[in-house]
Amino acid sequence: MPRTLFVTTALPYANGPLHIGHIMEYIQADIWVRFQRMQGHTVHFVGADDAHGAPIMLAAEKAAKSPEAFIAEIQRGRRQYLDGFHISFDNWHSTHSPENTALSQDIYRRLKAAALVYTKRIEQFFDPVKGMFLADRYIKGECPVCGAKDQYGDACENCSSVYPATALKNPYSTLSGATPVLKSSEHHFFKLSDPNCKRFLEEWLDRYGALRRPAAERVMTLAGRLTTMAVTRSAPQRALRNAALSIMDALPPVKDRLAMNLSGLARRDLAA
Ligand SMILES: [Zn+2]
Repeated sequence: MPRTLFVTTALPYANGPLHIGHIMEYIQADIWVRFQRMQGHTVHFVGADDAHGAPIMLAAEKAAKSPEAFIAEIQRGRRQYLDGFHISFDNWHSTHSPENTALSQDIYRRLKAAALVYTKRIEQFFDPVKGMFLADRYIKGECPVCGAKDQYGDACENCSSVYPATALKNPYSTLSGATPVLKSSEHHFFKLSDPNCKRFLEEWLDRYGALRRPAAERVMTLAGRLTTMAVTRSAPQRALRNAALSIMDALPPVKDRLAMNLSGLARRDLAA
């Protein structure tokens, strides 16, 4: 029986050109896609640039370009490699697209209406020289457990301890070397720990057989450990967007199914 398949690869980060590791992955996926097409199946094979985040902002600044101009240039450079290696993506897009913006906002509004999103002020390290809040990877200091120097803001490579960046001793910004200061800002949090989210995931996996069994079992194990997470970043970084959403647009049935499930979740939550 002919099947309709959705195939994608890890989205390359738009802070640099494609390298041999990317191409190797795409060639493997491409062989599989061609085989499925020869078997008479319909395959949607799509890829996109992952175009958001602090590393892109910093790379653009270094190149004296706006982040938008920087990622546009990176994207323009993709074609020659994809064509050169005969990789048959049906569509190559970007997480920085109007479709992704519309979908992300739609999902956000539905979750907000279902009371699964709330705001809270939190304290974070801020680089007074660069004038920006610092992600954990841009903060280093002494491990609060073993005292090892030059450890990142989230974990110690020496003793494997995990800690919040605020626990580091003598912290410094890896961007400017300045001592970061604590500053508070408001963030939006997604209550992934809500039992409704776990139930939604279980039902979705069950109803659509969306994943093969080992993968589905792994997801269910993880579902039990879902925690509330921040889904915004302080300016000047952009709001975190789900990279997968840009691809959803290439496959309307999945997008509609997702929207349907989200509205189902919203309804259930509002009724509860
Ligand atoms: Zn340590």
